[in-house]
Amino acid sequence: MSIDSHIQLSKDRCWICGIKLFPGQVPLQPYLCYWCSPEKTYEFTVKDFISDLVKEAEENLRQKMLIKCEEIDVLSLVADIGALAAHHTYLKQFSDMLGLITVQVALEHRYTPQKLIKVVSGTNKAEKWKRVRQCLYFLLDTGLLERGEGRYIYERLRPSDLLLSLADSIEVIELKETLPPRLANCIAGYALLKGINYSIEWLQRGAQNEPIGIIRLYPRKAGGLMIPKLFTAPVMFLLSYLTRNDEFSEEDLRRWLSAREIRGKLLDRCVNWLARVVPGSVHKLVSAQFDGYLYHFRFNPIYMRIRERLRERKRRRSYI
Ligand SMILES: [Zn+2]
Repeated sequence: MSIDSHIQLSKDRCWICGIKLFPGQVPLQPYLCYWCSPEKTYEFTVKDFISDLVKEAEENLRQKMLIKCEEIDVLSLVADIGALAAHHTYLKQFSDMLGLITVQVALEHRYTPQKLIKVVSGTNKAEKWKRVRQCLYFLLDTGLLERGEGRYIYERLRPSDLLLSLADSIEVIELKETLPPRLANCIAGYALLKGINYSIEWLQRGAQNEPIGIIRLYPRKAGGLMIPKLFTAPVMFLLSYLTRNDEFSEEDLRRWLSAREIRGKLLDRCVNWLARVVPGSVHKLVSAQFDGYLYHFRFNPIYMRIRERLRERKRRRSYI
């Protein structure tokens, strides 16, 4: 079952945000930069933020009540992360597969991989199946599927309790083949953040054996992996900043992303997505003010309150 065991990652790159780690830049460890894997301290770090956010989102998704992303602050925040992935041409196919699985599990309590292949991009069938497998193993890592018994992959990887209770919490009557976009983004955002969390932990442990978490989804090229950093880098920027700050400038964002070789039109696209001036950019992450020259971004006060709550919880925990 080790589909990726042959993959060797280079140590001089952060495999989450994509920055090159130069010698003398005091890398704390190989495979990760200090933004994505801050030193463990009593402070509330972005890694704490991501794992607490995922835990709290999961508690809410397990409640067998209708999922109302707008009424539950953490679900709204993870939906915004999912919205960023939905804007990413490559990652979108995985979000779409997850949406299809959720709908089918809600309606039939099972899923069939044949259905998933419809939303996968690829030049031939073999490549498409590879993507479906990538997605299924990613969902196994993130606890939405679990190991079962049977001849077929959908029997060997069956819906977990989490996916079943999540599927119970969506309005089946309104469903056709797709989920309402905000709900689809919420589920995808939750899975992707959990995937980032697992991948960071796997990299911290020295990247042994096959990759787990979001790295499962990375595109493969010539035996190596490519980082979908147009998604991972802005996510790490936004959550790192939100961990410590209430606002940031367009210049901060441009400097940070340029260091990760995101420049030109791609960089403009990130800025414009955040400023909500591109079609389909529907998120509540920040409010944007344009001073005639540059944007100034301020985080949603509801999200700042999530940070304060989780930070306070960590502070209280560390006193026990
Ligand atoms: Zn990084």
